[in-house]
Amino acid sequence: MKWGLFGGTFDPIHFGHLRAAQELLEMLGLERVVFIPAFLPPHKTERVISTFEHRLQMVSLAVSDNERFDVSDVEHQRPGKSYSIDTVRYFLNSHDEKIDLYFITGQDAFDAITTWHQWEKLLSLCHFVVMTRLGYETRGLGSILPNDIAVNYVYHDLEDFFQGPQGSRIYFRKTTFLDISSSAIRQDVQQGLSVQYLVPEQVIRFMNEKNLYR
Ligand code: ATP
Ligand code: MG
Repeated sequence: MKWGLFGGTFDPIHFGHLRAAQELLEMLGLERVVFIPAFLPPHKTERVISTFEHRLQMVSLAVSDNERFDVSDVEHQRPGKSYSIDTVRYFLNSHDEKIDLYFITGQDAFDAITTWHQWEKLLSLCHFVVMTRLGYETRGLGSILPNDIAVNYVYHDLEDFFQGPQGSRIYFRKTTFLDISSSAIRQDVQQGLSVQYLVPEQVIRFMNEKNLYR
């Protein structure tokens, strides 16, 4: 089993997220991509974030017409802080079959990987897929990981990935990074502008029903 895990705030989910996930699914031959809204305590951030429940429902609606897309509420089920390593362990332990996990992140997030909780362990538990875009090209691992760790990764030319000592891989893959962001969408809605063609119709209807971002 090859599954992609795609985490984010998804406030709201938009076609940029969906398109990138579809391309990676095909590029890497994934069986499914699981979208995982992050649980963020509302009082802990500088802006007001929609409730976990609303963000989860919007992702659900957005992925409902793609049989290879799924949503998970795992980050809400766990008490306390959510760490990616706990999410990865949850998926590894929840299946009897061997499961290969591909953790999908943007380049900006991956650049800060060494600040993540138990990052070395995390890199050994699953593969990483780093979405790159124009102007943000792969600079190799040397500038991201400490040197003594980066040197243990071997670049495989043919398949274009870096492989770590425990076998897990790091892929840099260029996706169509549609110039859409959740923040711009929230701003449009606030100003009474249409977000049609940026966000799936079902999600727009939900946003209207719940009066989100007004
Ligand atoms: P915000 O504007 O609030 O930061 P966002 O649009 O960046 O929201 P997030 O929920 O923060 O959305 O993103 C989740 C993940 O999706 C991150 O890994 C991010 O790099 C990636 N991502 C964000 N926008 C796009 C896009 N247009 N195309 C592909 N991936 C994207
Ligand atoms: Mg973002």
